[in-house]
Amino acid sequence: MRKQLQQQMARLKTAGALYVDARWYPFEETNELLMWNGNLKEATASRESGVGVRALYQGAWGFSAASDTSNLAAVFDKALDNARVAAERVTFPVRLAEKDAIKASFQSPNQIDPFDVPLADKVSFLATMDEKLNQPGVFQRICELTFIRKQIVFIDSEGSEIEKTIVEVFPSLQVMGRDAQGVTHPRKFSPPRQGDTRGWETLDDELFSANAERIVREMNEVLAADDCPQDVRSVILLPGIMYLQTHETIGHPLELDRILGYELAYAGGSFVRLSDFGTLRYGSDKLTVRADATIPNSPGSFGYDDDGIPAQDNLLIDQGLLVGAITGRQMVEEANARARKPIFDGSSGANRATAFYRVPIERMTNINVDPGQDGTLDDIVSNTERGIILDGDRSWSIGSNREQFHFATEIGWLVEDGQVTEVVKNSTYQGETIPFYHALSAVGDSSTWEVLYVPNCGKGQPNQVMQLGHGIPVCRFDHVRIGE
Ligand SMILES: [Zn+2]
Repeated sequence: MRKQLQQQMARLKTAGALYVDARWYPFEETNELLMWNGNLKEATASRESGVGVRALYQGAWGFSAASDTSNLAAVFDKALDNARVAAERVTFPVRLAEKDAIKASFQSPNQIDPFDVPLADKVSFLATMDEKLNQPGVFQRICELTFIRKQIVFIDSEGSEIEKTIVEVFPSLQVMGRDAQGVTHPRKFSPPRQGDTRGWETLDDELFSANAERIVREMNEVLAADDCPQDVRSVILLPGIMYLQTHETIGHPLELDRILGYELAYAGGSFVRLSDFGTLRYGSDKLTVRADATIPNSPGSFGYDDDGIPAQDNLLIDQGLLVGAITGRQMVEEANARARKPIFDGSSGANRATAFYRVPIERMTNINVDPGQDGTLDDIVSNTERGIILDGDRSWSIGSNREQFHFATEIGWLVEDGQVTEVVKNSTYQGETIPFYHALSAVGDSSTWEVLYVPNCGKGQPNQVMQLGHGIPVCRFDHVRIGE
């Protein structure tokens, strides 16, 4: 197959293509299980395979994909035909940033492949967790397991040949209860990634049992609690909400295709302009953020992106200053050309497609906030005069250019004079992105840092669901409006 792909590429090059690449998926498997109030409501398994081909011709892309690989020549011809047609209409000719040709392989770390685990063991895990969640106050309990296993062979006309095998495990537990007013309150647990592994072995019974008890207890505390006050306070965001704050107001606005306007028709734009790189103070000097695709245990680490660029650890925000973006080969060239100066020095390796039949676009890798110097969670609480600790995403609303936001959280704990006083329900907070990050006044040390995953980030038309991660410490922001 590899030989055939290379032969087809050579043929298209002779026919005038400037660049060609192919992603051949020998297989991609998913397995999803959902237990709802003790009933196994969903147990699905799917498997697909195929090849996707991109051809660059006179500044325009053409793409073609097929699950039937018996006539590869037709798939390649279609990609070139599409590029030829597009080339007649192209307004900004595509150029690709330089890269080195690589022959390499990547295997995501796991000890036990979840696809080798019998279905009965998976159902038994869900049933055990469901039993733990089946407590007074809980009227809905949802236990989910999603497994992904895929192999991707990337070959391009510049001499790269990369093979990736990726296995992912995404578990989650959720309970819901109703308060005296009939309002539903959820509480979730998706485990932080620990150790250097991503396989079935991450489903640790003790960890899940302890957290199942915790979310039931905390949900019942919320049901009995008073409303979050309408106030202006310091908010102490635990990783369970700070990951989403980071995702929505740092990750998405720093995708370079979005900055260039390519996502406007769907999920909105970005307030960031090309002239902001190297000049915009995104936040206080306590804010350092990186796109790190090299941490072992996260779905945002995949070895090589779909341009064939190796995983990198790049600064996005350096002590408050905006210095980097989430980029692929095409967009860095377009951004540099539009800015009429070199802003980006090559691709950051973040171009990914959700399947063989979709084109790669800029996607987050692991968008991580560096741990800080402000101690443990207890240290931060004891240094907070009037605050609220928040955790768990419940709902969110983001400005169309990510310039402002409103989040509701699952739980809040009021802080008065350095002490946690009471749990409150219906907690919310809101702000404007840049002033909010300028009000970042404390960042927890590595004891507070957790790697959390996002299994379902959506972007692109047609929509592409992507998996990624966020390494996040506890963060405190001052003068934030809450309870509105
Ligand atoms: Zn997203």
